[in-house]
Amino acid sequence: MGAKNQIKICLQGKLKAFMIKTNLEYITDTNSNFEYLKIRPAGASYASDIARPLKHPLCLNQFNFSEINSFLLDLTTTCNAKCKFCYSSPYGRVSKFNNTDLLAIDEILHELAKHSLLKRIQIGCDFEPLISKDFHIIGKMFQQKFVDAPLIIVTNGVNLDKINIKDYAKAGGSKFILYVSMHAKNSDIYKSLVKGADFDLIINSVKKIRTDFPEITIQFDCVLTHQNSSDLTAYIQWAFCDLGVDLIEFRKVVIPDSNPALQKEIGLPYHVFLNLYESLKQNNLYEVGELNNSIVPESFWVKNRINIRTKLLREKIWQLKKNEEKFSNKFLEAEKKNSELQNSTCWRITKPIRFVGEKIKKLRNISNVHK
Ligand code: SF4
Repeated sequence: MGAKNQIKICLQGKLKAFMIKTNLEYITDTNSNFEYLKIRPAGASYASDIARPLKHPLCLNQFNFSEINSFLLDLTTTCNAKCKFCYSSPYGRVSKFNNTDLLAIDEILHELAKHSLLKRIQIGCDFEPLISKDFHIIGKMFQQKFVDAPLIIVTNGVNLDKINIKDYAKAGGSKFILYVSMHAKNSDIYKSLVKGADFDLIINSVKKIRTDFPEITIQFDCVLTHQNSSDLTAYIQWAFCDLGVDLIEFRKVVIPDSNPALQKEIGLPYHVFLNLYESLKQNNLYEVGELNNSIVPESFWVKNRINIRTKLLREKIWQLKKNEEKFSNKFLEAEKKNSELQNSTCWRITKPIRFVGEKIKKLRNISNVHK
């Protein structure tokens, strides 16, 4: 075999070795213009989108990173709660990414941070991200690559007491949103809608996160059903005033026609939903967004007008935190330089000379005083 052929085979072998299939798949928007990119563990046959296997390295020409403005990363393909109205039927397994998956995620984040004009980075949506064993590793990746990124974590809140969001919060700064599903103020109503979740534990975790991360936005997601819609004003007051939530999104429950028993149990007639929306709009205490009925489920958001001041204060705290970090980094750097200098050979050799110099300085000072 000629040398040229040998080199060719060798190169092909190397290329093959580098093109390792991951356990991830990717979905782009239908026009394939890459404005939207979604990465998730393979095997969740939920989405109607066409998912393609992801290889590592990405052969980065697979994506045009400069066009991506919305990135969604699912860390699992399953969920640890059981909501009565769940329409995304969680599948399968708690994903533990292999090394190649993590390398590929790291590489995508690296490219996104460098090249894209991201308007939204979302972690979790149809599946629960906080049960991923790699939640903290991936958080570190975000923290190393992003500053003030529009980052949002969507969770049912069940595992909020077991994880630390600090790396994500750092990467997102004042743009970070923690989006927690909380469907009632009353624990019995909540428990009747969501199985496998500890209401008090979630509420205490939200309170703790509010104290630990004053700069972030906490958003509640509330699916409106027959049970939880009777006293919305009390729910809103509780969320804003007692828990320090910034924003609430209300969505009308969607129940398939094939389940008339559930429709009867928790369904909410459309006119009741509309009446609730209209009455909240009349309330001067709140700012209420437009009704979004272009998608199912219909939704609208509510903000606390008074909270605007709190939000400004939080942003100030965030700035102070950032400045404090900058100064302590500078201080550490100066300390490091100083200790490097003191350990250097030159510093050690000149030590006796400096010692004598100091003595002479002192003697001079004493004699100046006596003159
Ligand atoms: S938290 Fe979401 S995914 Fe999990 S069961 Fe509830 S609705 Fe379904």
